[in-house]
Amino acid sequence: MQYDFSSNEYSPEQKAYAARVYNILRETKSETPLAAVVTFGCQQNVSDSQRIRGMLSLMGYEFTEDLSKADFIIFNTCAVREHAEDRVFGNVGAVKKYKRQRKGMIIAVCGCMAQQEHVSRRFKESYPYVDMVFGTGVTHRLPEFVYKKLTGTKRIFENELNNDPVIEGIPVNRDDVFKGFVPVMYGCDNFCTYCIVPYVRGRERSRKPQEIIKEVTDMVNSGYKEIMLLGQNVNSYGKGLDEDINFAKLLRMVNDIPGDFRIRFMTSHPKDCTEELLLAMRDSKKVERHLHLPVQAGSDRILKIMNRRYTAEKYLSLIEKARSLMPDITFTSDIIVGFPGETYEDFKQTIELVKKVRYSSLFTFIYSPRKGTPAAEMPDPVTREEKGRWFSELLAVQDKIQKEKEEENIGKTVRVLCEEYDDGILSGKASNMAQISFAGEKDFIGSFKNVKITSYDHGLKGEITE
Ligand code: SF4
Repeated sequence: MQYDFSSNEYSPEQKAYAARVYNILRETKSETPLAAVVTFGCQQNVSDSQRIRGMLSLMGYEFTEDLSKADFIIFNTCAVREHAEDRVFGNVGAVKKYKRQRKGMIIAVCGCMAQQEHVSRRFKESYPYVDMVFGTGVTHRLPEFVYKKLTGTKRIFENELNNDPVIEGIPVNRDDVFKGFVPVMYGCDNFCTYCIVPYVRGRERSRKPQEIIKEVTDMVNSGYKEIMLLGQNVNSYGKGLDEDINFAKLLRMVNDIPGDFRIRFMTSHPKDCTEELLLAMRDSKKVERHLHLPVQAGSDRILKIMNRRYTAEKYLSLIEKARSLMPDITFTSDIIVGFPGETYEDFKQTIELVKKVRYSSLFTFIYSPRKGTPAAEMPDPVTREEKGRWFSELLAVQDKIQKEKEEENIGKTVRVLCEEYDDGILSGKASNMAQISFAGEKDFIGSFKNVKITSYDHGLKGEITE
């Protein structure tokens, strides 16, 4: 397949707004204007914040983590967990005092929470010092919002859910220099009954493959060693595009980009995880031997009420297929404990599934209702205490499996991307996501090293073999 690799331009209209903001800030401020971007939630939000930072750079802002010194504070919020929402309200409340001290400070709230009508209304009515609240569908209009605020508009509220094609060309200001996120698609069409994502991120929209290839190529050429392809359900990548493309084909194309780097991706929905994708993983040497495949529950009855559209048997056959193609692959998953209507018998089936799959790691949550989802309206007779006991039971099973899985790595020599350094000790992950620490030099950060795994002591230990 041949592509035109010239990237689409970011909206000329928004670039013009950014230039006007730049001029206003230069004329009215004696010092360089500073912005703080506070991010809550998942990798998708982290990735969105990197584009928000890119737009702010275009407007002439530099960055600070000290909120009291910022001229512009933006909270990029998450609606997936109740806990994250409470933290957002707490954090936004805490910056009111800075606004009193710093003349002209602008406070903005964006992201999934801000997309919701009831949240936007709460900010409008109870947080009068918040200047702008806008949802995920209009993030690319940030320069316009800042311009309007600087030229007299008192407050801006925009939460129209935009299902237009992806806006390309927004500048990206990344935090990491050797690991980076590349969104491949936005939104979700699946409507799992517990999940708020389809309501706050809209319908599935894929980026054009040439845009993704260009972005990854640029990153690899500037030294990136790990590329994480991101989407709410990467397995449905390509739907709606004119090109003959799906996620399996995209993986092969990214794998063909020259350079020494590795590829991860998340999140995969089991119902869309095809043999074609598993074969692409097997054949693509840069794609890591790890698959995050959220199962959520082991009971078919609960999976059906969740609208997950697979059975435990189908899920297990996928795991088996992947293992037959890639014997060294590891799996991680998400599990919800105590979904409305779940009984202890249902929960026991989750435990059975976990024992069969033997995940290397699990992200487990006790169910918490999200306003506006069908599950929030379902009868939920099991108490929080009871769910807590189930949760502990699951953790005990998983802890034992996890330790055994980690110990299976002892004696292997693996290629590790050095990510962190502390007092002579480096740590990083192998292709199968095993986390290993070993002696080495700070300069090794961002490079690959072959490491022999020698022992397990509160984590895997090893030594560099080259
Ligand atoms: S696949 Fe289900 S859980 Fe995942 S984002 Fe879409 S609706 Fe939410």
